[in-house]
Amino acid sequence: MYDIAIIGLGPAGATLARLLGGNRKIIAIDSKGSKINKCCGGLLSPDAQKILAQFDLCLPKDVLVDPQIFSVKTMDFDNNLERFYQRYYMNMDRARFDNFLISLIPGEVEICAGSVCGKIEKENNIYRFMFKTNGTERIERAKIIIGADGANSIVRKTFYRKNKINTYISIQEWYDDRTNSPFYSCIFDKSITDSYCWTISKDNYFIIGGAFPVKDSGARFEALKEKIRNSGIALKKPVKREGCLVVFNKNIGSVCTGRAGVYLAGEAAGMISPSSLEGISYSMDSAKILAGVLNENHGKIGRTYFIRTLGIRMKLFLKVLKMPFMYNGFLRKLVMKSGLQAIKKVRSGRLLPRNAGGFAG
Ligand SMILES: Cc1cc2nc3c(=O)[nH]c(=O)nc-3n(C[C@H](O)[C@H](O)[C@H](O)COP(=O)(O)OP(=O)(O)OC[C@H]3O[C@@H](n4cnc5c(N)ncnc54)[C@H](O)[C@@H]3O)c2cc1C
Repeated sequence: MYDIAIIGLGPAGATLARLLGGNRKIIAIDSKGSKINKCCGGLLSPDAQKILAQFDLCLPKDVLVDPQIFSVKTMDFDNNLERFYQRYYMNMDRARFDNFLISLIPGEVEICAGSVCGKIEKENNIYRFMFKTNGTERIERAKIIIGADGANSIVRKTFYRKNKINTYISIQEWYDDRTNSPFYSCIFDKSITDSYCWTISKDNYFIIGGAFPVKDSGARFEALKEKIRNSGIALKKPVKREGCLVVFNKNIGSVCTGRAGVYLAGEAAGMISPSSLEGISYSMDSAKILAGVLNENHGKIGRTYFIRTLGIRMKLFLKVLKMPFMYNGFLRKLVMKSGLQAIKKVRSGRLLPRNAGGFAG
């Protein structure tokens, strides 16, 4: 019998597993294996950096990738506008970031990596959960279950099915990139998605991605690639393609923190910015709060966790208010035309940088 079972070891689960204290028997199950990585832009926002600073954590150099980019190129295909805005993200390798967080979990926590939790049931006042690890089925019991299992959370689907959450499909493709002109961009085009798309340069790769309504997501991604090609970027054969669900929550009422022995953290709880899809900071923040509540060892976990995450819900609400200025073509045009906070790029007098090439495929 475990005291706590954590399902998922992304930023939420790994942070929680690291911070939980006491003489408790804890198991953490994560489906990631050596070949399956989280499909993610891998940009660490200032809010996420601040939380790492609160934890007194420094990021090892090998978590970062080349290059660090200081601006986002906003491409508005609806209004045919382009602007640059300053950004303070750190460009990193998402798999290495997750592994770094997992490496900090104390040895007393039993970690089952490459294991998929397939079923959880309530059995009197405890929870019975089944997972496959190294090809064999294991059945265990725990007093508390934590769903830190992301947008497609089995914990949420099992216990909070009625609290519906809006999910989109994210698709990313990686291309070999040998140019000397890396950039990060946000792309808006309502014929493709009412969320947004992006490109990011990472080491010698150029990544194209987007969040799309589930219906026709593949065709929408192809339409995005066509528009990118038409904008003058040559795309050949992708090196890899990845995809996953992403929470695209226009309504903070669907944020669910859980109760009565089953709690949710991070994206499983619905905590991700609907305007930028930035989620790492919310995941670590909610895990920090939940760990604090669990460490107090009292009987009002659900209520206390709900109250203490009010700040997160307020922040998400402000992001919902920001959405029209990003996703409504007319308002976005006003903002972009005004030039407010936009950066003026200063170009060199030379036509090409010393080692400019073309996109290789
Ligand atoms: C394409 C894309 C780009 C993004 N880019 C950024 C970005 O640049 N910056 C940013 O801050 N945020 C970004 N986000 C959001 C961010 O990735 C998520 O919000 C964040 O990873 C959520 O962390 P989490 O720990 O809550 O869940 P996750 O990171 O999703 O982790 C959940 C973990 O649970 C495991 N799991 C799931 N189901 C099971 C199961 N049944 N059994 C066992 N284990 C299971 C998974 O393997 C995973 O390791 C992006 C999201 C997407 C989809």
